Amino acid sequence: MLRAASRARGLLDGTPHRAAPRWNPATAGFRAYSRGAEDAVAGYAGMLARGVRPDAYTFPSLLKAVARGGASGPLGGAVHAHVVKSGLERNAHVASSLILLYAARGDGAAARVLLDACAVGGGAPVAWNAFISGHNRVKRFVQSCCSFVDMVRAGVMPTAVTYVSVLSACGKVTDVLLGMQVHKRVVESGVLPDLAVENALVDMYAECTDMDTALKIFDGMQLRNVVSWTSVISGLVRLGQVDGARALFDRMPERDTVSWTAMIVGCVQSARFREALETFREMQYSNVRADEFTMVSVITACAQLGALEMGEWTRIYMSRHGIKVDVFIGNALIDMYSKCGIVERAFHVFKEMRIRDKFTWTTMILGLAVNGYGEEAIDMFHRMIKVLEAPDEVTFIGVLTACTHAGLVDKGREFFLSMIETYKITPSLMHYGCMIDLLGRSGKLAEALTTIGQMPMTPNSTIWGTLLAACRVHGNSEIGELAAERLLELDPENSMAYILLSNMYAKSSRWGDVRRLRQAIMEKGIKKEPGCSLIEMNGMIHEFVAGDRSHLMSKEIYSKLDKMLTDLRGAGYVPDVTEVFVEVGEEEKQKVVYWHSEKLAIAFALLSSESNVAIRIVKNLRMCLDCHNAIKLISKLYGREVIVRDRTRFHHFRHGFCSCKDYW
Ligand code: ZN
Ligand code: ZN
Repeated sequence: MLRAASRARGLLDGTPHRAAPRWNPATAGFRAYSRGAEDAVAGYAGMLARGVRPDAYTFPSLLKAVARGGASGPLGGAVHAHVVKSGLERNAHVASSLILLYAARGDGAAARVLLDACAVGGGAPVAWNAFISGHNRVKRFVQSCCSFVDMVRAGVMPTAVTYVSVLSACGKVTDVLLGMQVHKRVVESGVLPDLAVENALVDMYAECTDMDTALKIFDGMQLRNVVSWTSVISGLVRLGQVDGARALFDRMPERDTVSWTAMIVGCVQSARFREALETFREMQYSNVRADEFTMVSVITACAQLGALEMGEWTRIYMSRHGIKVDVFIGNALIDMYSKCGIVERAFHVFKEMRIRDKFTWTTMILGLAVNGYGEEAIDMFHRMIKVLEAPDEVTFIGVLTACTHAGLVDKGREFFLSMIETYKITPSLMHYGCMIDLLGRSGKLAEALTTIGQMPMTPNSTIWGTLLAACRVHGNSEIGELAAERLLELDPENSMAYILLSNMYAKSSRWGDVRRLRQAIMEKGIKKEPGCSLIEMNGMIHEFVAGDRSHLMSKEIYSKLDKMLTDLRGAGYVPDVTEVFVEVGEEEKQKVVYWHSEKLAIAFALLSSESNVAIRIVKNLRMCLDCHNAIKLISKLYGREVIVRDRTRFHHFRHGFCSCKDYW
């Protein structure tokens, strides 16, 4: 459920989707602009005081400064009055600056009046250009497109500037049909070759995901700049073609922040988290500064990899480079700390955040819930409601997970109902999954089964898997068998179904059934994804696969492992091979579990880290029974805290116990 929930977060909070923006709303820049407006007006006032009369060159720059400064009301109006007084309102450049001012303020009607007045007096293309780019500035892209059509209908010849503006608007609203018509006109008009127009064409097709055409234009360009390259790279990234993007990226003559960020975002979106961090490292070697968007992706990669050291380091990087922790970065940090199992630090970030959005609250609730702080997560939910932040479907996944961890079945049912009735959220498969988990964990297996029967949609393999896991813990082989059957119907090669079913038989001493199941698996030959554990050490991510001998310290690791197993056996550890499905002798089977990737990772951590540091591992599959038992003992024997994030949940091992209370 955790994985599913976090995936939903990724989709909904939009972090991985903030692909390479060309326009960066850095507040520092904005402040400089608004100061520019005030300075410009002050300069103008000084000029008047000296008795200098304004001319046709004075107003355009003054109006542009005012328009950039957010085009706030009184200032713009005052300047407009001066224009009228000076009698320069018919001047084409002055008039188009006024049009830009009004359009960029979102006052399209006033801008249109000025435009019409201007069309009578000539100088039309400049005025139309101002009109269209003004709409773009306030993101009224549909208006930009319509204005372009009006302009052509009025018989006014577009210029290169017009094409750049309208193509950008077409890209933003992904209107490829209008984009193609504009393209045709561009070709006929003879403005080509023109770098800005060609870039705009590439960008428009890339935004509309027509990469074939975008690449064709790109290949045909005589001159390219960093913007041209970045447009195609971002386009490929959006389509998930990271390798193609990488190939182009490697050929780029020079790269800027936006191009590096596009590449890093691409890696994160395609779950290539290690590559994302490597790319970020290369970016630093190239002395290109990261920005807020880069950092969100880097922190997201750290969260997925459980790379706490690197995640902590990003904060130093940000303070060193003056990158402010905005709401997106704050949310990413909360998620990163939660996924690394240090919810206290996540909460600290939460407290420090001055601006919070619903994703901030939801991320915090989920973080508390999956780390076993059920009550606190529910408190957080009530606080969220109090500040009038509306919970969404992901918030409820957090709340229901919290109830599951705290064993609050009645509360969970209440929340489930209020989600539907008060918040009008239709429960999804994931919400039902949470309910099955909640009921199953507390042993209400029959009710869980009934709930599955009442679901409006077809239950998927996760739902049956959750129920099956519950049956294993509570030793209910009757419902368990049914769940396993359904699970295998949906997913015949699901190794977890066999493993859990076999566990369950073993638990109720049905050895004949264990043998029969084992036989069936041998005949079928179930495929099992190789287990893989990640661990971060001194800023580097180390990856271990079961039985892996590729690590540079392999020899030391295996001898440490032997020593560790001897210690464990001395403390009463008996290897549990019920989950080993290979036809080998008992001794060989023990070897299989001994060499599981998480054990290798722990042996490596014991060798390479200080004895007071917690060991953090990210595992791609569900942890097996034997590893779970062994790690519990390790935490007691060596006095080490071990945190394993496996495919479905968190295991926080301390003093011989696990936070999952052996339920996973
Ligand atoms: Zn294992
Ligand atoms: Zn556990």
